[in-house]
Amino acid sequence: MIIVMKADVLPDSTEVQDVVRRAERYPNVRAEVRKIQGATRVLTEVYLLGSTATIPQESFEEFQAVEKVIRIRERYRAIGRHEGQAEAVGFEYQGLQFSQDTFHLFPGLCAVDSPENTEAMFRALAEHGIVTTRAGAYKPRTSPYDFQGHGKACLPYVFELAGKYGIKVISMEITHESHLDEIRAALQSSGQATGVMLQIGTRNAQNFELLKAVGQQADFPVLFKRGMGITLEESLNACEYLATSGNHRIVFCLRGMKTNLGDPHRNFVDFAHVPVVRRLTRLPVCIDPSHAVGKKLVAPDGLLDILHVTAQGIVAGANMVLVDFHPKPEEALCDGPQALLLEELEHFLRDAELVRRTYEERLRLHEQMMGG
Ligand code: PEP
Ligand code: MN
Repeated sequence: MIIVMKADVLPDSTEVQDVVRRAERYPNVRAEVRKIQGATRVLTEVYLLGSTATIPQESFEEFQAVEKVIRIRERYRAIGRHEGQAEAVGFEYQGLQFSQDTFHLFPGLCAVDSPENTEAMFRALAEHGIVTTRAGAYKPRTSPYDFQGHGKACLPYVFELAGKYGIKVISMEITHESHLDEIRAALQSSGQATGVMLQIGTRNAQNFELLKAVGQQADFPVLFKRGMGITLEESLNACEYLATSGNHRIVFCLRGMKTNLGDPHRNFVDFAHVPVVRRLTRLPVCIDPSHAVGKKLVAPDGLLDILHVTAQGIVAGANMVLVDFHPKPEEALCDGPQALLLEELEHFLRDAELVRRTYEERLRLHEQMMGG
């Protein structure tokens, strides 16, 4: 059961405390207060967890400060969008806002290989005013003989260079909970030069112990990648582990599904699910066109397939794009064939912004048509 407080009733107000006290009079019920940063206002919601089935809604509707009471019957209790929850849920990290209303591009290295390439990447981003990137230090590889990432050894220079070039957030995959401490320690040594969004890769989408560990920490937000061979429902349930463990700062990422029907792409592009995930949850939705397409194929119109599928995701409302670039893809130790060149960065950024504007235009058109 979710008790939505009226606008501007703050989480630590006496009104909220009254609601929590009332809730906790019921046996086996725990109340969790959540501050929701909407596009235009702050909302406070009180989540009642446990044996709530027999609690009468009126018991809370009678409070002056309560706007409405929502009984959760559906799946995805913590991340789901339940009846009557229209407000976008967002979070702020490193001064940036992430929600279903915002848009961020994260171009960067699939895997960090050298300080020189990292610096070339970050410098190019800074030249284009981009403050968000990706940089893999821990790489989950299909073969044990492949490059596994430099791990904690590269963190000091990655964070230092990020600080130097004004990078605020780096999306970085972790494959084991011990990586959390390594990242924390390196960030501290760098004087908190930047921020990290922890990436849960597709191969770990159902690594429940890792999800719980990442869910229990409050330092970093999480980018959760859809499992490549499981249903969307299974992925959303796995993502639910993060939220039920306490971390609600989550972005859900689509990255394609493993099926031969996806040929000739590396994966079957699933960006038609952008609106689906936005409907089922209140999480911001990311797309990863690089791992979806996996190759630098060029369409007859001259545009790369990666550009085309990026556009498909953005025009459907994606809030974030994770995309591989590399200064010298032929020398990249991981996923070189799908990496775009630094010379292609400006084109990519301008194309993505163009499509985002088109999406916003579509929303305005929709409003006009509905109003007219
Ligand atoms: C990645 O983003 O580097 C990665 C390994 O992606 P995925 O988990 O989607 O394969
Ligand atoms: Mn990769």
